[in-house]
Amino acid sequence: MSNLEHTRYLAAIGRNVPRPGCVTLVGAGPGDPELLTVKAARAIAAARVVLYDHLVSQAVLDLIPAGADRIDVGKESARHTLPQNAIIELMLRLAQSGRPVLRLKGGDPYVFGRGGEEAEALAAAGVPFEVIPGISAAQGAAAAAGIPLTHRDHAARVVWVTGHLRAGASDALDLDWASLARPGQTIAVYMGIATLPMLSARLIHHGLDASTPAALVERATLPGQRTLVGTLQSLPALVQQSDVQSPALILIGSVVSLHAVLGRGAQPSAAALPEAAEPALAAC
Ligand code: SAH
Repeated sequence: MSNLEHTRYLAAIGRNVPRPGCVTLVGAGPGDPELLTVKAARAIAAARVVLYDHLVSQAVLDLIPAGADRIDVGKESARHTLPQNAIIELMLRLAQSGRPVLRLKGGDPYVFGRGGEEAEALAAAGVPFEVIPGISAAQGAAAAAGIPLTHRDHAARVVWVTGHLRAGASDALDLDWASLARPGQTIAVYMGIATLPMLSARLIHHGLDASTPAALVERATLPGQRTLVGTLQSLPALVQQSDVQSPALILIGSVVSLHAVLGRGAQPSAAALPEAAEPALAAC
């Protein structure tokens, strides 16, 4: 320890204020624990205090060491979660007590997860932090459902949007409809189950062909994953009839037509199918 560090250390003890613990914002991916990054898996295995959201799968939570404190800040059963400012306050308090904190968030922390707000609060409070990215739901759902997000014959652009209405907002989604309705792109909609009818009507109104293929992937990469495929026009009714549960991601665009060939359980053409072959993805 240098003299300077030593002096700072003693000064901190003198004031009885511990050095803040580091906060690691970790992306837990879409659910399958095998889809964690190596860095995320290592951080989870070494965690001592974990704050986690309801989107983090049980299989990922099972990787938290038995002796670690786990704090559920997103109890969905109560139908309301801890307000964001309370989560931030708790995270700051824990870190400022000198403990390293692992903040575990579904998918990627910086994609529709308010991880940006949490990082801003940490930066403002002078708490050191690190972000470990995760596979976001759009990527997990695309791979698991056999729907490439881009494809030279279908889409040269991907747009990730939220279908969530902010509390207190009008009942209309505030999106750039003209740009979303362009062909040649894929739209991935997070948190869009409730607003799908509105989304579909608006996109059609702004000129996107009603027959554009569209899919909803429920519980992507988790046990019970289900993919519903229709068109921009038909998907809302299909979803309504199918008792879809959260989490679910909606993909809109001509790439969705590839699900028929690339999707789990898709039947390869008879000519390409050796006898008794497994469905495409189960083969490995
Ligand atoms: N940070 C997360 C997104 C949080 S918003 C990420 O990067 O994935 C929550 C939304 O993500 C859900 O409403 C749903 O639209 C989507 N989502 C998360 N996990 C999912 C899963 N396993 N399958 C389908 N959609 C999922």
